[in-house]
Amino acid sequence: MGGVTTRPVLASRLRGFGASIFAEMTALAVSTGSVNLGQGFPDYDGPAEVLRIAQEQIAAGANQYPPGTGQPDLRAAICEHQKRFWGMDLDPDTDVLVTMGATEAIAGALLGILDAGDEVIVFEPLFDTYAACVSLAGAVLVPVTLRPDAAGRFCFDPADLRRAVTPRTRMILLNSPHNPTGTVFTPGELQAVADTAVEHDLIVVSDEVYEHLTFDGLAHTPIATLDGMAGRTVTVSSGGKSFNTTGWKIGWACGPAPLVNAVRMAKQLFTFAGGTPFQPAIAAGLRLPDSYFSSLAADLQAKRDVLRDALAHAGLRPYASSGTYFVTADVRGRRADGDGTEFCRQMPAGCGVVAIPAGVLYSPANAAEGRHIVRFAFCKQMPTIEEAARRLAAWK
Ligand code: GLN
Repeated sequence: MGGVTTRPVLASRLRGFGASIFAEMTALAVSTGSVNLGQGFPDYDGPAEVLRIAQEQIAAGANQYPPGTGQPDLRAAICEHQKRFWGMDLDPDTDVLVTMGATEAIAGALLGILDAGDEVIVFEPLFDTYAACVSLAGAVLVPVTLRPDAAGRFCFDPADLRRAVTPRTRMILLNSPHNPTGTVFTPGELQAVADTAVEHDLIVVSDEVYEHLTFDGLAHTPIATLDGMAGRTVTVSSGGKSFNTTGWKIGWACGPAPLVNAVRMAKQLFTFAGGTPFQPAIAAGLRLPDSYFSSLAADLQAKRDVLRDALAHAGLRPYASSGTYFVTADVRGRRADGDGTEFCRQMPAGCGVVAIPAGVLYSPANAAEGRHIVRFAFCKQMPTIEEAARRLAAWK
């Protein structure tokens, strides 16, 4: 017997997902010296007070496991935040679970709630881990495609949502503000989702990590606050986007105790618990005054405007973005065949800017819908955005 295993190693549930597009494009940015507008992470720090608390915590010896559900004070701060901004009433002892980022909360919700063969309705384009986690749960992803309206805003046809429901449907996995399109679902759109969930007795898992990043006067609405939804919704968020600490991976799941308990049952098997010195820091962040959160959004809105105009001038027609820190654009003005993946591979050589092809964020059957769409991140310092704009303007 040779020393090298010859049977396929990768579990069948993970076949077909490939390497993370975000890692691939960040590596390309580093190797080509490009401005990285691909992976969505800020190139600037969060509030000094939040950073200071984490440093003090490490020095003070807060370096062992936190409680499995998260530190009580962070759970209290999450409840205060949900009440202050969204009017939600939650019990910090039973209705909140601290996780290693929102991604773990979503993975825990899918693996803790779904049985093999259950169907999960997801709006696409979709964040890449959703499809992989649905597959890991042995469940089936049923996509509902968001398409741009006349104003370039991605939205869904309520008839598509109704058609997606079958007797096997168990869950709707929602994300608003939406990565990658920047759509902030309107109360009317959320009501259509809620009506479907109530009519068919579905659970909703709602990824709200961009809850504070909304522009043009639009407000985020947690779907859990709609009539009939509090008892069937797991609301997920994190500190990464709100406090520019994406590498800390402090997230949470909130909702009725039985749902949060199901998330915990799965989550405790992955990481048990972690991020001890970061938990008090995120608690302080969540208690910052309203002005912190509004200036975070205003700052990003100004960056969106600069990048959006630069894309338009470079012949990359931007779609509407009213939230998150992403804007998508149509490459067909510069690349007639509309191949967004090749476009993203070649853009670093062409102009020294990196983006993410949105086509990979569709289910394989619908990939053609997003083939010509690419995503740019604007959570970068203004000089970085301006440098990208200069490079796009000089691109022959
Ligand atoms: N959420 C970020 C994005 O969409 C980072 C994703 C990642 O690195 N997996 O770009």
